[in-house]
Amino acid sequence: MRPERRPDRGAGAGDNHRARKRFGQHFLADPGVIDEIVRGIDPRPGQPLVEIGPGLGALTNPVVQRSGQLTVIELDRDLAARLRKRAELAVVESDVLNVDFAALAEQAGKPLRVIGNLPYNISTPILFHLLPFAARVEDQHFMLQKEVVDRMVASPGSKDYGRLSVMLQWRYEMESIVDVPPEAFDPPPKVESAVVRMVPYPAAAQADLNVPLLGEIVTVAFSQRRKMLRNTLGRWLEERGLQADFDLQRRAEEVPVDHYLALARLAGECKAG
Ligand code: SAH
Repeated sequence: MRPERRPDRGAGAGDNHRARKRFGQHFLADPGVIDEIVRGIDPRPGQPLVEIGPGLGALTNPVVQRSGQLTVIELDRDLAARLRKRAELAVVESDVLNVDFAALAEQAGKPLRVIGNLPYNISTPILFHLLPFAARVEDQHFMLQKEVVDRMVASPGSKDYGRLSVMLQWRYEMESIVDVPPEAFDPPPKVESAVVRMVPYPAAAQADLNVPLLGEIVTVAFSQRRKMLRNTLGRWLEERGLQADFDLQRRAEEVPVDHYLALARLAGECKAG
């Protein structure tokens, strides 16, 4: 049994802030779940932690207790105003999609640890906004829809393996660390949630990769995921006059990430040369 939510402890109505749907506000309210997530993050004193969407502070409070200071990015003006009253928090009142994480890392003088119970309506755009900053990031811990986390960590051959898997797996090592049921939030979302840990690979490993080109290839490949690739990627390669050592008698969902990378590298070289 989960402990019952009391108005003086939960983050919702009792705190006289009404959750705003348009900001994807679902506040964590289950102390056991919060504790599990914070232990998964393992914040340490002095670390350059940045939280996206602190809301009423369900994660913020236990994290800053351990880290001493914390930068928070909050779009909701009322919530940002509350957070600003606290000396240990540096508040960036902004849409996270406009935040320059390179500048934050510059200020911190070291790679960032980014965390957050993300607004689910823009979780994929947030992941892609952060992608070009991966070299400035130590790790990321995010609460997302479980269905999205499943797609992020999926292996080739599984039904969840797709564009999102490939576009993130080339850059991050990822792992789903906690499953979270709707009842852990106030108000509860309609979907199951999960926390994912994302650790960027060393930047040098893929320094020469043309990411937009990889994106194009993967989009074409998965445009008809049940078809043989000769019908989709095969055409794409033909149109560009590219000869690749790449087995087109496969479905997109069977192709490992490094095969897509090799193709993007080849296509990039031909384009450049
Ligand atoms: N971390 C809190 C709140 C999560 S709800 C908790 O776990 O209880 C999502 C939070 O993201 C809300 O505080 C919401 O106001 C904020 N938010 C929504 N859209 C945002 C955006 N584009 N940029 C920054 N914060 C945003």
